[in-house]
Amino acid sequence: MEDILLLVHTEADGSLAKSTREALHVAATLHKSLAGSKLVIGLVGESVQAAADSIAACPATKYFGVIGKDFGQSRYATDAAAAEAICKAAQATLVVAQATSRWNRALPGVAQRLGGSADTHVVGVSVNDGKIAVNRWYYRQRMEAVQNRAQRPWVILIDPGSQPACQCQGGTVSVENVAIQLSVVGQRTAVVGVRAPAADAQTIRPDASVLFVTGAGWTKKQADGQTHVPEAEKLILGFLKLAHASLGSSKSLVDQSGEGQAVLSFLSHMNQVGQTGATPRHPKGLSTCCHGEEPHTVGWRFIAERRAINLDPNCGWARGKADVLYVADAFKVIVKVNELLAAKKS
Ligand SMILES: Cc1cc2nc3c(=O)[nH]c(=O)nc-3n(C[C@H](O)[C@H](O)[C@H](O)COP(=O)(O)OP(=O)(O)OC[C@H]3O[C@@H](n4cnc5c(N)ncnc54)[C@H](O)[C@@H]3O)c2cc1C
Repeated sequence: MEDILLLVHTEADGSLAKSTREALHVAATLHKSLAGSKLVIGLVGESVQAAADSIAACPATKYFGVIGKDFGQSRYATDAAAAEAICKAAQATLVVAQATSRWNRALPGVAQRLGGSADTHVVGVSVNDGKIAVNRWYYRQRMEAVQNRAQRPWVILIDPGSQPACQCQGGTVSVENVAIQLSVVGQRTAVVGVRAPAADAQTIRPDASVLFVTGAGWTKKQADGQTHVPEAEKLILGFLKLAHASLGSSKSLVDQSGEGQAVLSFLSHMNQVGQTGATPRHPKGLSTCCHGEEPHTVGWRFIAERRAINLDPNCGWARGKADVLYVADAFKVIVKVNELLAAKKS
């Protein structure tokens, strides 16, 4: 018989991220499919009561918490100790968690300490005749495997954006405190602060409904024989702000800085989409001034509806890679789109 533990960490403000509710959806579905199983929830954070209350209506029978200032921050030593203590208290055979950078870093080590195993980047979990299987990607998202494991506890990290979020309502629950001796954990890593771009300067937004991709064309000479990089920057930032879109890029564009060419100042390699970049998940994608070559478009695997704007009717997008290709000047199109979006807002 399997017992399921959903492991969550709270956000800085004590709330739960959407990805937590996605992992909860998986844990609750597993619980429903596995006859006789128990579902419990373990929370780690500076304070966890509000977070636990916010999902009170879920089918969990017990809540464990490792609570305190030391657990508000992402740090391997304290996160691993907290997760290990909760796993021991819960005695679960299946541990489900959201695949945030914080849990991805700490939980494989916890599985090792407990003699279990871990799978990261899981995008689906199913139960057939009582046998559990997970779907996950390998080789930079090129091959999908369906696999199961006999080893327990089995830690399953669910990729954010791959599942529907659980809609369970709030209420009041009682959280059992799991004590940890911090002297055992050690305090070798002190978090002295967090350096992050200002919220409106953050261009990578995994929860955005639209991915806006920029290609090298934005920095190339245009019909008048000139480049228009400042104008391109203004148009792209304007679109991102008005549409709350996430910014992706082709490799050629992010690589240009290394070649000393004019570049868009807000782009970094973190924005690169493709074979050697990211494979983001968004319901819609709009590619601009990007040729749509295979090494780039392979990163669009999880973009449901794809559109592209390119001057070239024979570009890669025209060869079955986009649902709609607008053969047009992206500078002119985005000016107009931004005007329409701004008018809609006012
Ligand atoms: C091993 C390997 C791995 C790679 N990995 C990646 C990867 O992860 N991601 C990635 O992106 N690439 C990757 N590449 C590179 C990839 O093959 C392409 O070279 C790259 O994607 C091209 O970028 P681009 O389309 O922005 O630039 P370009 O090929 O220069 O295309 C620019 C486009 O802009 C259009 N354009 C210009 N002006 C306008 C305008 N005003 N309006 C509309 N359109 C306009 C042009 O028609 C042209 O199609 C990889 C290559 C290799 C060999």
